[in-house]
Amino acid sequence: MFAMQLSKPHTPLEWVELPDPHPGPGQIRVKVGACGVCRTDLHVVDGDLTHPALPIIPGHEIVGRIDELGEGVTGLSIGQRVGIPWLGHTCGHCLYCDEGKENLCDHPLFTGYTRNGGYATMTVADARYAFPLGEEGDDVSLAPLLCAGLIGWRSLSHAGDGKKIGLYGFGAAAHIIAQVLRWQGREVYAFTTPGDTEKQAFARSLGAVWAGGSDEMPPDLLDGAIIFAAVGALVPAALKAIRKGCRVVCAGIHMSEIPAFSYDILWEEREIVSIANLTRQDGLDFLSLAPKMGITTTTKPYPLRKANEALDDLRHGRFDGAAVLVP
Ligand SMILES: [Zn+2]
Ligand SMILES: [Zn+2]
Repeated sequence: MFAMQLSKPHTPLEWVELPDPHPGPGQIRVKVGACGVCRTDLHVVDGDLTHPALPIIPGHEIVGRIDELGEGVTGLSIGQRVGIPWLGHTCGHCLYCDEGKENLCDHPLFTGYTRNGGYATMTVADARYAFPLGEEGDDVSLAPLLCAGLIGWRSLSHAGDGKKIGLYGFGAAAHIIAQVLRWQGREVYAFTTPGDTEKQAFARSLGAVWAGGSDEMPPDLLDGAIIFAAVGALVPAALKAIRKGCRVVCAGIHMSEIPAFSYDILWEEREIVSIANLTRQDGLDFLSLAPKMGITTTTKPYPLRKANEALDDLRHGRFDGAAVLVP
C-alpha cells in the first residue's frame, strides 16, 4: 500500500510504500476511495495535538470499500461502501462508555491520530466504528460528511433550538451545517475572517441570511453560536453576539488561547460548551438524515501525493468547502 505518513510534527508528510495491512479479529480492511482533509489533521501535523502514535497516517474522513474481513466480523460484506470517522475505537467499560458517552471514553483510539487513517490507498478499521454508506453520492462528495458533517451535527445539537444561529468560521463544517439549518427552517449568520468577502459570498450562496466579519455584530442578537475556527478570540466575540440564556459551542479539538473577558458578557445564563469527538449514534443519525436534507458538499479534490499542498491550502483558507484526497 501507499500512504502519506507523518514521522514527526512540524515536518511534511512523506510518500511511503508499506506492506499491505491485514485486518485482525473484528476489523475490516478498506480500499480508500477518498479521504477528507480536516483541520484536526493540521493540528496533528503542527503538533497542537501532542500524543500522536508516530509514525502516523493522518485522515479520518474516509470513504472506501471493504476488501477484507477480519475474523468474527458480522453485518458487513466485501465490496460494501463504508465511512470511517475520527472515533476509531472505545473501551466499552469506562465510566463514560457506561453512561453512553463514548465520545468521552478514557481509552479511545482516534483514526489518523492514534491509529492509522485514510491518507493512504488502504486502511484497517474496527468494524464496529465503520458506518455503512449505501450507494448514493460519490466518494469525494461524501468524505466531508464523516467529520465536518458529523462534528458539525453534534455541535448543532448542543447549540439549542433557536431560530438565529451564528457560525464562526465558514469552512468545511459550516458549509454543511448551514444547509442543515436551512433545511430545519432556521437562519444562518455567517462570520468569517474580517474582509474575506469571498467566503461571505460563499455563505450567502448556501442560504446565510447575513454574512460578515467576525469583528462585526449581527443585525439582531443570536439564539446560539457555533465556533468552528480555532481562534480563541472568537469566544468573547460570540458571547457578545448571543442573547440571554443562549449558548456558544466550541466545535474544534484545539483553539488558540481565549483572551480574558469581562463577566458581563457571560452573565445572564449565557453558556460556553465544547464538543469532543462523536458517538456512533451521532453518525447514524446524521448519515441517515443527510440524503433527506439534500446536503451537497463543495469539495476540492487533490491527488493523495499532494496531501501537503492540500493541508497548506487549508491552513491559508485557499478554497471553499472541503479538501479531499483521492488515492
Ligand atoms: Zn470507554
Ligand atoms: Zn475532523
